[in-house]
Amino acid sequence: MNELNELYQQVILDHNKNPRNFGVLQQHNHSAEGHNPLCGDQIEVYVDLEDGIVKDISFECSGCAISKASASIMTTLLKGKKIEEVKKLFDEFHQLVTCDKDEQFDLESLGKLAVFSGVREFPTRIKCASLAWHTLLAAIEKNNQSVSTE
Ligand code: ZN
Repeated sequence: MNELNELYQQVILDHNKNPRNFGVLQQHNHSAEGHNPLCGDQIEVYVDLEDGIVKDISFECSGCAISKASASIMTTLLKGKKIEEVKKLFDEFHQLVTCDKDEQFDLESLGKLAVFSGVREFPTRIKCASLAWHTLLAAIEKNNQSVSTE
């Protein structure tokens, strides 16, 4: 497990150093700001949502390594996903970081999200890791009515 944790740490550090999809998205119809006062993380998520599908997504963040890496990994997972799939991934992620630390997960099926399995051992870090996801959901829901055709 220690080797695994080390590997996960490398992934987090890599995404912190070279965040993917970083910057303002030129064309977006949803955005939201998130703030984690406990740690001082600030994030803005931009989404180009079309027909209920995340066509493109980006973020800006000034915060700790975990908040930035979480946002970066999140954006790489969600491009091309339907809103329902986004919410499902959020649920899986949330479950992963908030469950009892002895609970076993099928880390393989979690894919890249598995790198945050160590976060649940550090309660103050859970907010850092989930900030991007909460902000994303706020962005999607905020303007939903204006773009929803239903
Ligand atoms: Zn943080």
